[in-house]
Amino acid sequence: MLVLDYYHKGFGMHIPAFKMKGMIKGNLFWHSVSKDVTAYTKACVHCGKFKPNLLKYGLLSTHKASEPFEIVFCDILNISRSKSGNTALFVYVDSFSRFLMTVPLKKDNCFGN
Ligand SMILES: [Zn+2]
Repeated sequence: MLVLDYYHKGFGMHIPAFKMKGMIKGNLFWHSVSKDVTAYTKACVHCGKFKPNLLKYGLLSTHKASEPFEIVFCDILNISRSKSGNTALFVYVDSFSRFLMTVPLKKDNCFGN
């Protein structure tokens, strides 16, 4: 379709479907514009080959821990220097029980040196 060609390729690049829909709806109207634009961009060989990130993927799955300490999360938080000279906290959370443990560190590295 000439109109879809123009809005998809007429600006020197391959415009993604969501931008095409916005551009077309501001200027033209037909009942199946959204469906037609989606079908057109999905059928574009160039986009399929060079813009694979335009494809929709499912949500990332989350892994559920089935027992304590199977999955843990940790991070190092920088804090202002405490009276004892600690400048960071090693934070550790068990995914299953939500048990939280912190270990004060003298310097902001994981070895506490
Ligand atoms: Zn394209």
